[in-house]
Amino acid sequence: MASATKKLKSFAKSCGADLVGVASRAILTDGPPSADPRYLLPSANSVISYAVSLDADIARDFISKKEWRAHCDDRKKIAQKLYRIGDALVEKLRSEGYEAVNVDLNNNYRPEDNAADVTEMTEFHPEFSHRYAALAAGIGRLGWSGNLLTRKYGALVELGSVLTSATLDADPTIPDEDHPCDKCRMCSLVCPVQMISTKVSTQVTVAGITETIAQKRPNTCCWIGCSGYHGLSTSRSWSNWSPYQLDHTLPVEKEALDALCISLQKADPQMQDAGNSFENYRQMVFDPHWFYYTVCGFCRTVCSPDRKTRLANRKLIINSGTVALKLDGTHVVAEENACEVPTPFGLNVIISPKELSKKDPKIQKWPGQFPLDRDVIKYLRQPFNSGQ
Ligand code: SF4
Ligand code: SF4
Repeated sequence: MASATKKLKSFAKSCGADLVGVASRAILTDGPPSADPRYLLPSANSVISYAVSLDADIARDFISKKEWRAHCDDRKKIAQKLYRIGDALVEKLRSEGYEAVNVDLNNNYRPEDNAADVTEMTEFHPEFSHRYAALAAGIGRLGWSGNLLTRKYGALVELGSVLTSATLDADPTIPDEDHPCDKCRMCSLVCPVQMISTKVSTQVTVAGITETIAQKRPNTCCWIGCSGYHGLSTSRSWSNWSPYQLDHTLPVEKEALDALCISLQKADPQMQDAGNSFENYRQMVFDPHWFYYTVCGFCRTVCSPDRKTRLANRKLIINSGTVALKLDGTHVVAEENACEVPTPFGLNVIISPKELSKKDPKIQKWPGQFPLDRDVIKYLRQPFNSGQ
């Protein structure tokens, strides 16, 4: 299969993949359950893993709070590209008589006991882990953050995977001496909810490799920070791109964090919208009216291939201030006199008094809007709620 594998990899590159590798199913069986491709394709013998790099300049403008939407749009464009690469590979493999599955990129989790839907989930184990596949296929290694790090792009990549019954030639994994993570801990220092320990480590074994990575807080902690329910750092001097914050500190215990996350998810208007991205992520990614709302991912975006840039990126993050909502739906760097207004969604929103006093705020013009922003804006436009 050497030449067939080579052809498939060049084909994936011709479709837009920046990095491509192959892992055998056998090498993945020593990993956590989400490393096993047979969950989605019982006949799987191989996994084709591929990565597309994010635009580093756009990402830098995102973390320095110069520009929010360009990075959201870049992520949406890359998600579309990843789906198309996977579709093309699946079509090719099926035309040659093999079974093949293009693994969904996001929001597909294994069922959890006692969770009726995603709002009640607390573990968020994916059906299949793109990160573990990429590690096994020699695309990268897991960094201290637990993110997949490549030598060429650092962590600034998005991943896709195709599972197939074809037995392809596997690539070697990246040896320890070429490990891209130097444990600089910048990923820990730019997480507003302190998800990633700076000191305590744990280990994960996949594809015969045991990675030493940071001990993390429960997954619901990242869910709260990354979804934008609480974007403010503990120093209160910087945040991610979320204009929301809790009016209390995050609980420490897993049980309390899980309960908080569930209550925020239940109150989140996104979850009541028909056809939200948890119902069908792929469909939303290709919907021209859907806004790819992303406010965090700082642990990944800080992680450039070279240490000097990572240190500089951290400075950009912690010196770029906090974020406020505008009544036209944009997120902007908060002015000094920005105030905190309680909302009916279990969160406070940051907004400038000048914005609140606008009699005729412009309606946002760009397509789509994050449902939480939309409903908070509706709420604030009622004079009684905004203090007018
Ligand atoms: S930021 Fe530093 S410690 Fe964190 S994953 Fe990247 S290289 Fe490793
Ligand atoms: S995505 Fe954001 S909240 Fe989640 S671990 Fe990374 S920096 Fe922290």
